[in-house]
Amino acid sequence: MLRSPIYAGNLAGYKRIAANMKSKKRPSKLPEEWEVIPDTHEGIVTQEEFDTVQQLMTSRRREQNAGGFENIFSGVIKCADCGYAMRAASANRRKRPDIIDCVQYTCNNYGRYGNVMCTAHSIEARDLFNAVLADINRFADMAVNDEKAVRAIERRLTETDQSRAKSLEKEKKKLNKRLAELDRLFSSLYEDKVMERITERNFEMMSGKYQKEQLEIEARLKEVTETLNDSYEKSQGVRDFLSLIRNYQGLKELDATIINALIDKILVSEREKLADGTVRQEIKIYYKFIGFVGELHITPTKRWTALKPKNCTVCGVEYVPSSGISKYCPACAKRIQREKSNESKRRS
Ligand SMILES: [Zn+2]
Ligand SMILES: [Zn+2]
Repeated sequence: MLRSPIYAGNLAGYKRIAANMKSKKRPSKLPEEWEVIPDTHEGIVTQEEFDTVQQLMTSRRREQNAGGFENIFSGVIKCADCGYAMRAASANRRKRPDIIDCVQYTCNNYGRYGNVMCTAHSIEARDLFNAVLADINRFADMAVNDEKAVRAIERRLTETDQSRAKSLEKEKKKLNKRLAELDRLFSSLYEDKVMERITERNFEMMSGKYQKEQLEIEARLKEVTETLNDSYEKSQGVRDFLSLIRNYQGLKELDATIINALIDKILVSEREKLADGTVRQEIKIYYKFIGFVGELHITPTKRWTALKPKNCTVCGVEYVPSSGISKYCPACAKRIQREKSNESKRRS
């Protein structure tokens, strides 16, 4: 129901595309493809509200891909080198108990156009999840325990704005004063004209000049006011964020709501091999209002991380399974396999 643009005062037509005549069934179009005639009637929600809901619903639909994997970083995670979104994809490995261990993110640009455009930038979904969770915790710990560091961030982010705001406020005062002055000049000029103290030609010239200045001042005033509002909003945003992040101390789970409340974007770099042979990968998290605090370096998990040892369901011996659904130790697995194939041979 919320999908219908009629709620925003638009008329939706052709929700179905005509398919072949025989089947009579017409394939349902995706809402994005609906033809909408805007503003035919007054809606019960604003267009803006409607669009927001659509965006949320659409992104939620896309989050559920790769076999039930919920992509909580959808819209946030980007390739550090080309800026494209990163896509979540099943890494084609044997089933693990947690779907997140079967998913990798890679650069979409690379995925679509190959290595002429970018490189894979692969990162394990689990590695990303852990790194972001750890960083939020680190930040929250700092916000709670290190008042000094918090003030330093606040100062760094708002200082330039504050000194700029001061000079803008000054300019704003001056502009308003000049506007009032122009009003006075205008009326005395008009008086001069009425009293025939100046010629028609001079009146036109002078009033044209005043008018031009008035328009210029009004334009500048608008600009200054907007800049000031932005910088006040930003300062408030920084303060709000620093008090918000405190609530996430000890966070154990992440979801899309938390990610979207705290994070603007996450940039993932390509893996790099260091001189000592270790591999590392850089992740940059840009928080809302605060921006980038410090880069994170992770050691990417190998693709085939060993699973926890378990006991064979037949002989009870402990073994390291190669997949989450494995039930038998290698010896029993072999025997069972052999028995099965013998049985099928006997039947045929
Ligand atoms: Zn890329
Ligand atoms: Zn066994």
